[in-house]
Amino acid sequence: MSPADVLADLANIYRDLHEHPELAFAEHRTAGIIAEHLTALGYETATGVGGTGVVGVLRNGPGPTALLRADMDALPVQEETGLDYASTARGTARDGSETPVMHACGHDVHVTCLLGAAATLAAERDTWRGTVQLVFQPAEEVGGGAQAMIDDQIFDRFGRPDVVLGQHVGPLPAGLVGLRRGPAFAGADMLHVVMHGRGGHGSRPETTVDPVVMAAATVMRLQTVVSREVAGGESAVVTVGALHAGNAGNVIPERAEMRVSLRSYDPDVRNRLMTSIERIVRAEAAASGAPEEPEVNLQESFPVLVNDPDACARTQAGFDRDLGPGLTVDPGKVTGSEDVGLLATAAGVPLVYWLLGGADPAAFAGVSDRDGLQRVVRELPSNHSAQFAPVIEPTLTTGVKALVSAARTWLPAEGRG
Ligand SMILES: [Zn+2]
Ligand SMILES: [Zn+2]
Repeated sequence: MSPADVLADLANIYRDLHEHPELAFAEHRTAGIIAEHLTALGYETATGVGGTGVVGVLRNGPGPTALLRADMDALPVQEETGLDYASTARGTARDGSETPVMHACGHDVHVTCLLGAAATLAAERDTWRGTVQLVFQPAEEVGGGAQAMIDDQIFDRFGRPDVVLGQHVGPLPAGLVGLRRGPAFAGADMLHVVMHGRGGHGSRPETTVDPVVMAAATVMRLQTVVSREVAGGESAVVTVGALHAGNAGNVIPERAEMRVSLRSYDPDVRNRLMTSIERIVRAEAAASGAPEEPEVNLQESFPVLVNDPDACARTQAGFDRDLGPGLTVDPGKVTGSEDVGLLATAAGVPLVYWLLGGADPAAFAGVSDRDGLQRVVRELPSNHSAQFAPVIEPTLTTGVKALVSAARTWLPAEGRG
C-alpha cells in the first residue's frame, strides 16, 4: 500500500485490529500486519524483537533520531461494547486457561495511529531529515514488553534515539491530547501474598488457625496504609484486587492468597508502601498464630513515568501549531501505569508521553470547565472496562497528527539546518 492508501484505510485497519486482539507476547497476527505495512512504506523492518516486537526505521539523511512507540497487546476481557467490529477472540491466559480477549486498553488505537504516522512521515520525507525509529512493543499490560526489547539490544541493533515519544488513548474528549510534565503515570507494583493457616472441620475452629479470618483482618488493616501512613500531600493507592481461600462452608482451609496492587509517584512513598504491607501481613499472621511465615512476592513492577519538562514544552509548542491552540490540556497525574519509560531510561534520553482523547465528544456537550470535564470522564467506561469503546474519529486523525507533530519537533525541516 502507498502512504495515501494506508491513510485512507486507517479506520479499516483499526476495526480489523480491534476484532482480532492478541494477548501479551502472542501478538503474532498484529506484528505481521504491522511489518507488511512498514515494508511497503519503505521502512527497514525487523520482527521478533523482544519476542513479538516490530521495529521500523526510516533513515532520511543526517540528523537526530525520534523514537515513536506503540504497544500492541490486548487484555483477557470479554468484550461487551456491542460494536459490529467487537472481538469474539479467545486466547490462553498466563495460568494456561482459555480466556476471551479484548482490546480494552486501546492498544489497537496506538498501533493504527503509529501506522498512520509512518505513512505520513514517509510521504513527507522531502520536508524533514534525520531518522524515524518506530517501536511496536509487545506485552505492555504484563509489564515485560519494553524490558524484553531492551534485553534484545534494540538500541545496539537499530540505533540510539534522541527522544522517546508515544501516546495512550483514554477517556478524554476525542480531538484533545493531555500532556503532563514531570511524574505523569503512576509507578505500579503487583504483590502476591500467601497466608498459611491450619485447616480443619468448620465445626471445630479451636483445632485450626483460620486463614480466612487472618486474610480478612489483613485486608482491612491494609486500608490504613494510605489513610494513616501516607501524608496528605502525597498520593498512593493500595488495592487488594483478588482474595481466594477455601471452597466449602464447613471446611476451614489451609491457606489464603491475595493479589495486591500499589500505585505511587515517588520512590520513597513506594518503598514505604512495600515495607508497610509486608509488616502488616507478617503481623496479622503472627496475631493469628500462623504455623508458618506468610509469603510476599513482587510479581510485576512498573516505574513511575516521568515526562521531561523541557521536551514537553517543545512538544506542546508543536501540538499548539499542528493540532490547534487550546487542544492540549493538563490531565493531572494518571494512576494508570506504563512501561514506555524504560525505553527512555535505557537510552538515557527524554520521554514525552501524552494521553490521546478517545471519548465521544458528544458526551461532553455543554461542559466548559475542568470540574465538568472530570465529572463526565468519571462516568465513561474506563480503560480495561468491557465497555471501553473509543470513537474512531476524530481519535485516529488526532493521534496520527500528534505523533507526526511530536516527531517533527525533533527532526529538522529540510534545508533549515
Ligand atoms: Zn492497560
Ligand atoms: Zn494500555
